[in-house]
Amino acid sequence: MIARLPITLDWLEEAGRASGRVDGIAQLNALMTRLETSIDEFSQTTVAARSATTQYNSALEAHVSELEQVGKAGVVISELAAIARIMLDRTREIEQEMNRSEMETRALQCSLEEARRSAEVDHLTGLPNRRAFDGVFERELAAAIAEGEPLCVAFCDIDHFKRVNDTHGHEAGDRVLRAVAQSLSKISDDRCHVARHGGEEFVVLFRGKTLDDACHVLDTARDEMSERRLINRATDVPFGKITFSGGIADVFAHATPHEALKAADDALYVAKHEGRNCVIRAGTQASQAAA
Ligand code: GH3
Ligand code: MG
Ligand code: MG
Repeated sequence: MIARLPITLDWLEEAGRASGRVDGIAQLNALMTRLETSIDEFSQTTVAARSATTQYNSALEAHVSELEQVGKAGVVISELAAIARIMLDRTREIEQEMNRSEMETRALQCSLEEARRSAEVDHLTGLPNRRAFDGVFERELAAAIAEGEPLCVAFCDIDHFKRVNDTHGHEAGDRVLRAVAQSLSKISDDRCHVARHGGEEFVVLFRGKTLDDACHVLDTARDEMSERRLINRATDVPFGKITFSGGIADVFAHATPHEALKAADDALYVAKHEGRNCVIRAGTQASQAAA
């Protein structure tokens, strides 16, 4: 844009020749057309235009001085210089406006990014929430398919949690929830994702682990949790044994990811039935149907 727009005396002469009338009006019209074109182009994109304005300012500035020197010899030239000066001031204002808009846009982008992050975190436990998990599940599913890796999903639910609330109060219940979340999150890494699915239920996704291996990792976490002895800090009364039950499924052993989640949930239900504090593997749909 800049390369095509400098307002030089050569250009003024050329514009005059092209108009067939070497007079002030023709030159002014040609100059205005050229300036208008430049402003139209320069307003097409803000960021690009802002950097263009900086260059355009310098180009105009150089040419304005040039015009002003010669302008002493003629009215038309000084009028042109005055117009160019106005355009220069205006482009400066626009540049400032664009700087401001760009800063505001960046601040808005930061706030939106912050809001997006906040919307995906469970504020009680600090774990990703169900919404975040849905996104992670989608990404890990695609990655597992692309890499030909296994993918397993598990639901975990704190055993008799209602009793904790009933005995120690809701706030103490919250602390227990945080303790279980912390215990479970120890198994998380870039291929193992732990999220709070809601209430006293967590969901865990294992990429690159067979059902046996994933089940073993989860069962070790369950065992460690059941060995901990938590005490209610507010009253010094022990919470007693805090345990959770789990149901785990091989995602690719089911027709759809949704069915795999359902199978893990069904297995969790079985774990509760089997006496809690254990992890149960979901059978494949075929074996479930046969059962
Ligand atoms: P089960 O072993 O069968 O899972 O029994 P449970 O008592 O854990 O299950 P139930 O569904 O009967 O009760 C779950 C309780 O978890 C009820 C609900 O008030 C409590 N709860 C859910 N979310 C929260 C929370 O954020 N904080 C606290 N303190 N309690 C919660
Ligand atoms: Mg429960
Ligand atoms: Mg529950």
